[in-house]
Amino acid sequence: MTRFTELGLHKQVLKAVSQQGYDTPTPIQAQAIPPLLEGRDLLGIAQTGTGKTAAFALPTLHHLVSEPRKRRSKTPRVLVLSPTRELALQIAESFTGYGAFMDCRVETVFGGVKIGRQIRNMERGCEVVVATPGRLVDLMQQGAIELGGVEILILDEADQMLDMGFIHDLKKIMARVPDTRQTLLLSATMPKLIGDLAQRYLTDPVRVSIAPESTTAERVDQGVIHVANGDKLAMLEAVLSGEEIERALVFTRTKHGADKLVRKLLAKGIQAQAIHGNKSQNQRVKALEAFRAGKCPVLIATDIAARGIDVDGISHVLNFEMPNVAEQYVHRIGRTARAGRAGSAVSLVAGDELYYLREIEKVTRARIPVLPAPEGCEAIALPEPDRNMRVTKPKGPGRGQGGGGGAGKPRGQRQGASGKPAGQAGGGGKPGGRQRQRRRASASAG
Ligand code: AMP
Repeated sequence: MTRFTELGLHKQVLKAVSQQGYDTPTPIQAQAIPPLLEGRDLLGIAQTGTGKTAAFALPTLHHLVSEPRKRRSKTPRVLVLSPTRELALQIAESFTGYGAFMDCRVETVFGGVKIGRQIRNMERGCEVVVATPGRLVDLMQQGAIELGGVEILILDEADQMLDMGFIHDLKKIMARVPDTRQTLLLSATMPKLIGDLAQRYLTDPVRVSIAPESTTAERVDQGVIHVANGDKLAMLEAVLSGEEIERALVFTRTKHGADKLVRKLLAKGIQAQAIHGNKSQNQRVKALEAFRAGKCPVLIATDIAARGIDVDGISHVLNFEMPNVAEQYVHRIGRTARAGRAGSAVSLVAGDELYYLREIEKVTRARIPVLPAPEGCEAIALPEPDRNMRVTKPKGPGRGQGGGGGAGKPRGQRQGASGKPAGQAGGGGKPGGRQRQRRRASASAG
């Protein structure tokens, strides 16, 4: 197994890595860092939770500290583009943390806040700018930032940037960065548009793909049933009794919700147990054993607890409540259809969860079909909502992230859809050894 110390990173960077408590690089880090240190371009297919931020931030900081230059006003050396303000903040935080032992100033640029301060920050100068495309273009047009000094350009979550309609801004930005730059493109999915983007803006990139569990997801038979919150229990009961269920893993968002559901199912004569963070290790082991042995065919879990579960033969994943982080859905349903078997995932979706369903469909780039209601439940299944209907993100803290804690607690930042990065494919040409002074035939953007 590779260790961080073997990757060739500068000692100031390694010091920060060790301060973060990292010991072993994640697969994307092990595969991406060495070629990035050689100056290669990168096409990385990886989701949040794989350690992708450090995979691009560490070699970038290595470059900055190995080839120091005087800080210049308005002229960053590294530009990171992010689709959202939240992600931009997270990336900037990572750069600041990993760059703690070097003189590296990191600034963020995004909309929704006053531009004046950002203009002043650019004027003062910094090495790294993490920006959302729209506001960056504003700054460019005001002459507040000069991209001619960009040595490394990173496009993070590029698929989401395209989904959000940033292509025109992206083109304007690409037209301003030097052709000699090193370019890193990261995307959770690899639709054709991302392939086109890579073709256009990357030169002989090294390809690293941390197979998302969506490859598993493709083998899972998925479906949704629209149902009001108040009818979910009856619907779940019908699904559980009507299907060929060997072992069903049922997801709730909260620990409290998991316990409540167990009580209600038991009251209806359905054997169920819960595992979540408030259960003792012993209780968890027992519940898992009963589940494995088939004594208790229904296991209720929260997202965080489910990460540790490795049980073959889960025939069904049932989403009693939808996750509010789309990647979490992929992780959830990836619990079934393991080891080449078939599996089904059924999601019970209430009106206030439609937004999350749409987000999931964006991430998985597939529409989840609406299933017919199980027998006897026709009356409580809601008709399929009009696809053109605008759904907005539910407000308020009621929807906790991923379901680790108690209901109603506001949570922090986006949660990484962690779990195991399954498999990976590296490669992509021989190491070029080519430095940044590469000539590009026609790299400028149209
Ligand atoms: P990311 O995929 O970049 O969002 O990272 C997911 C999480 O993994 C972050 O909380 C990182 O701090 C953490 N992380 C990244 N690299 C490592 C590593 N090599 N060892 C342990 N944790 C890591």
